Amino acid sequence: MGIKVSVQKQPLLLLTLLIGLSLPLIGCSNLTSGLTNKSTPTVTTTANPVKTTETPSIVKKVDRDISIPILYYHSITSIPKNELCMPPEQFEKEIAYLSQHGYHSVTLNQLYNYFYGNGQLPEKPIVVTFDDGYKDNYTNAFPILKKYNFTATVFVITSNVGHSNNLSWSQLQELTQNGWLVESHTVSHYDLTKLDSKKLAQELNDSKTNIEKQLGTTVDFFAYPSGRFNAKVERAVKGAGYRMAFTTQRGWADRAMDPLAIHRVYCFASMRIAGFGQRVQNPNY
Ligand SMILES: [Zn+2]
Repeated sequence: MGIKVSVQKQPLLLLTLLIGLSLPLIGCSNLTSGLTNKSTPTVTTTANPVKTTETPSIVKKVDRDISIPILYYHSITSIPKNELCMPPEQFEKEIAYLSQHGYHSVTLNQLYNYFYGNGQLPEKPIVVTFDDGYKDNYTNAFPILKKYNFTATVFVITSNVGHSNNLSWSQLQELTQNGWLVESHTVSHYDLTKLDSKKLAQELNDSKTNIEKQLGTTVDFFAYPSGRFNAKVERAVKGAGYRMAFTTQRGWADRAMDPLAIHRVYCFASMRIAGFGQRVQNPNY
């Protein structure tokens, strides 16, 4: 925690740290190890639909069993040689690519209702997510996404909300008013596999209830800090009331996947637009 606080206040130190090999401390790089204990999918088609406040623009109902790319980003800013910090110009190129190639941004609520209920999706659906809750998600990413009529989900570390480099509650409120979802990435971004049961439950419950209280929303979705989880963590996530949880495991999401271990597509600074195109065009990229 001490490291995390000082990191936020000193961008240069952050850079130095990230160039080093200490990424797992703060970032959500796709360093997912073999910690996953794959379990049988537990959600059935009888699951209750989650709230859908948006009015999805159904272009055409997609086939019943398609898989869907869920992109994940971190910071949208220019810090050279930091994989987790994508320059805004590069981010805009990627969103413009999606727009030009006919992709439609859908929310995690729409995705959930499509996978486990009777929800429909537009053609070429895609989900945009951000981990950690950096302020530049509002200052840099939000205007770009809005320009192309895209929305996103931000997974926030609730103890960091309002800190200098992080989103504030009022910014998060504005994002939700613009169709974004604000979901949980724990209170403190600990490695959840290392916590005892009590602390684990606190990280999951307190972040959820805090966001719900601050924003008046329902928090149904969760992203594992640095992608780290195991069977015990998964059970705790389910016990805390989350409906889906997102990993840093490579790949597109589909309905056969464990709902508490959904894969995502890592988007990083050194990725070229051709590589991005490959990731969103091909489920087996
Ligand atoms: Zn993270």
